[in-house]
Amino acid sequence: MSKSFYFCTVCEDVHYGGNPPEECPTCMTKDAYEEIDEEEAKEKMGF
Ligand SMILES: [Zn+2]
Repeated sequence: MSKSFYFCTVCEDVHYGGNPPEECPTCMTKDAYEEIDEEEAKEKMGF
């Protein structure tokens, strides 16, 4: 299974892994993650 980038639509936390977290560890929102591509992830993380 390949890994992907996900970001929280509420607080814009970026997660990298096989699956997005069920609950965002930063803002505690459930099902807030959306899959994004690597370029978008870099932008969100400020690279
Ligand atoms: Zn969040």
